Amino acid sequence: MSLGEFDLIRTFFQNKGSSRSDTRLGVGDDCALLRPRPGMELAVTVDTLVSGVHFLADTDPVGLGHKALAVNLSDLAAMGAEPAWLTLALTLPETDESWLRGFSRGFLDLAERYGAELVGGDTTRGPLSISVQAMGFIPEQGGLRRSTAQPGDGIYVTGELGLAGLGLHGLLGKAQVDDESAMARLLRPEPRVQAGLVLREFASACIDISDGLAGDLGHILAQSLVGATLDWDALPLPDSVRAYVARSGDWHLPLSAGEDYELCFTVAEDREADLMGGLGAMGCAVTRIGTIDKAVGLRMRRDGQTIALAPSGFQHFRS
Ligand code: ADP
Ligand code: MG
Repeated sequence: MSLGEFDLIRTFFQNKGSSRSDTRLGVGDDCALLRPRPGMELAVTVDTLVSGVHFLADTDPVGLGHKALAVNLSDLAAMGAEPAWLTLALTLPETDESWLRGFSRGFLDLAERYGAELVGGDTTRGPLSISVQAMGFIPEQGGLRRSTAQPGDGIYVTGELGLAGLGLHGLLGKAQVDDESAMARLLRPEPRVQAGLVLREFASACIDISDGLAGDLGHILAQSLVGATLDWDALPLPDSVRAYVARSGDWHLPLSAGEDYELCFTVAEDREADLMGGLGAMGCAVTRIGTIDKAVGLRMRRDGQTIALAPSGFQHFRS
């Protein structure tokens, strides 16, 4: 006999992993009861992963559990929020116990690492779909936004760009990819939670790169009513991405491919040294890739020319 809804919840999701003293009531009642920290604001985000749209149905369940949570922790990171609580709405075609064991392990291991507790959710039958809600703390008026970049600010990214896009090309058979870190980045992105907490001090605006650098930086520009110029030679591209670009001529990939889950942020000129010190001390690579301009639009300097870039990130519903 297959597992019923309540046995499933008890077996895989109730009282597992991190338990927080500010959770008064977790999984098991009609609502969770949470005790927000005085003097802090609560950052709340939700993301859905749909089978066939965001991942292939045969994706390894451990990696999928990890990624479903990682994309939400990345949204918290982009606001400078400290992870606290999670809810999980799962729609499953069947109760496959080995799949559930893998999925819950990937999800709960990552939650544990960042001290976040799963406090509720919903379980239904239907085509495979995973919605995760994450909540975290920000000091009052101390969070990072998209709308507050200023002309003259430097534009920075953490880590490297284009790896997940290259991994996806490999997965779909569009390119020969022998860099294992590309597939790892695509399937198990690491949210930049610690970097986001440090950036609270330094950044004037911030976003996480889920839909591609051009599109996501484009959101900062649109909401801040500014423009930007990027420098192609400054982009932090791993060797495998450089080699792919050289071989295919497809230099759009590192600008438009999503799912790297790095942070893109802006910093006033006079805070740059402190920023480098702060992120450097925690071992987080950070690169300046351009400058915020008064003139709207996104431009890039490449081979001695300045070209206009369309903010061409991934969008659902666009034909
Ligand atoms: P209700 O019908 O009152 O919404 P449910 O029967 O859906 O309650 O869920 C019972 C309890 O299990 C609730 O506390 C709910 O938050 C929790 N829950 C249900 N599904 C999940 C899940 N996938 N992960 C974590 N908690 C869950
Ligand atoms: Mg319910």
